[in-house]
Amino acid sequence: CGIVGYIGCKDSKDILLKGLERLEYRGYDSAGIAVKNNAGVYVFKEKGRIADLRKIVDSTVDANMGIGHTRWATHGVPSFENAHPHQSESARFTLVHNGVIENYEQLKSEYLQDTPLKSDTDTEVIVQLVEVFVKEGLSTEVAFRKTLQLLMGSYAIALIDREDNQTIYVAKNKSPLLIGVGDTFNVVASDAMAMLQVTDQFIELMDKEMVMVTKESVTIQNLAGEIVARTPYTAELDV
Ligand code: GLU
Repeated sequence: CGIVGYIGCKDSKDILLKGLERLEYRGYDSAGIAVKNNAGVYVFKEKGRIADLRKIVDSTVDANMGIGHTRWATHGVPSFENAHPHQSESARFTLVHNGVIENYEQLKSEYLQDTPLKSDTDTEVIVQLVEVFVKEGLSTEVAFRKTLQLLMGSYAIALIDREDNQTIYVAKNKSPLLIGVGDTFNVVASDAMAMLQVTDQFIELMDKEMVMVTKESVTIQNLAGEIVARTPYTAELDV
């Protein structure tokens, strides 16, 4: 399983699909991407291979930000409904996740009694919680942080907000995730290999960190909301 993300000036579709292909070695049963432009968020997902996903991605959609996922099912069978990205009830938020949320049943009964769920995954709870907290009046940043504070288990997460063209929200705990740094773009990946096609500068993330990635900036904070400074390293891998 794996995660990729891109925000910059180029069209994101092919960068995301190539990144996912580079992560195929990790194993998966489904794959998907969500890309965003001024007109909205477009989700393409499929049970099966990335080659099959490529066939259903609409080549006429031009979008310079997006997230992608390969799934290794832990909760819910491999299927279209359970494939990532997952969306919140109003489809404002779109999210990909690797890992296992151990307390998702408890979170569902505590916060999501009135939210119809569309999948059998533990993951969907995360994106629905963000929307519930935003509807209560929190900003996306604060709602995402509050959600992360409630999660028990492992996660690498990338989230986009339909109302925000500037930001990919990212978080990590006990699942691998890196930020790749470019000139006029930034990327997200489970493994540097996935994004060596576009950069060799990477920032390591620690557990329980959250990141706001724009095309010009990478802002890391801990779950108390304190900013953390960290410089990139050069990935030296043979590809
Ligand atoms: N637990 C999530 C699911 O079953 C994510 C699995 C993964 O890491 O790909 O959908």
